[in-house]
Amino acid sequence: MRVRSRCPNCRADRLLPGRDAAGTPVRRDCAGIPRDFFCDRCGFEGLLLGGRLCERCTLADTLGRLLNDGTGRVAPALQPLITALLETDRPKSRLIWLRNPNVARLLRGLATGTIPLTHDGLHQESPWRTVAHLRDLLMDSGVLPRVDRQFMLYQRWLTERFAVIEDPEHRRRLEHFVTWHQMRCLRSKAEKGPLGHSQISQAKQEITQAGAFLAWLADRDRTIEHCQQADLDAWHTEKPATRRPAQTFLRWCLTSPLPEGGGFLRLAP
Ligand SMILES: [Zn+2]
Ligand SMILES: [Zn+2]
Repeated sequence: MRVRSRCPNCRADRLLPGRDAAGTPVRRDCAGIPRDFFCDRCGFEGLLLGGRLCERCTLADTLGRLLNDGTGRVAPALQPLITALLETDRPKSRLIWLRNPNVARLLRGLATGTIPLTHDGLHQESPWRTVAHLRDLLMDSGVLPRVDRQFMLYQRWLTERFAVIEDPEHRRRLEHFVTWHQMRCLRSKAEKGPLGHSQISQAKQEITQAGAFLAWLADRDRTIEHCQQADLDAWHTEKPATRRPAQTFLRWCLTSPLPEGGGFLRLAP
């Protein structure tokens, strides 16, 4: 019904909403349908919604409503997003996307400023898949600066990971390591090109094994300040391959001051 194709009767390449005597789709004029299918605003012939507007004009109106900054106009910073979204070949799929209440909420928040229009602002929002897709669109349209996608996903992973570490001291140590070592390292790699899956997987293992080491040490009634060479040896003897990624954290602890005046990790003999 909504197919655009060559009308078998008049050969015009048009929307074919009618049927001829044999039931073959033909254009409106050839089928004698009195109403037309031209958009009231742009004249495009196609599926018309609501007030006789085509899907693309309906999309423009919907985006204009959602991205109203509260003064009746589209938030200027978000205009490039609208332009990019309207360039789509499939306005219908964008209309369906906008029906997602989370998408509508996020767009309204960004337009009115209740959600800061920054990567950090989006970082506080959920659900993360919806946010990740919106972030991609904002980067593609130049509204937000491009950041490495793997890097963003890793930050998301860290937030979830740290939320379940029970010992606040362990969490603080690991956060310190992430801030002062891992993030610097990953940022400088990301500047040279997109981060690969293996680099992120390595970073995750470093955190997982460093966390496991701190928990293991606590089970031996030791804190990292009182860790001894014998502890490290015992740790590495078991499952050496699995536990090896903890070495990055341990080496870093040996050369960097522990947070909040903890001094350096010094191994007692
Ligand atoms: Zn025709
Ligand atoms: Zn239109």
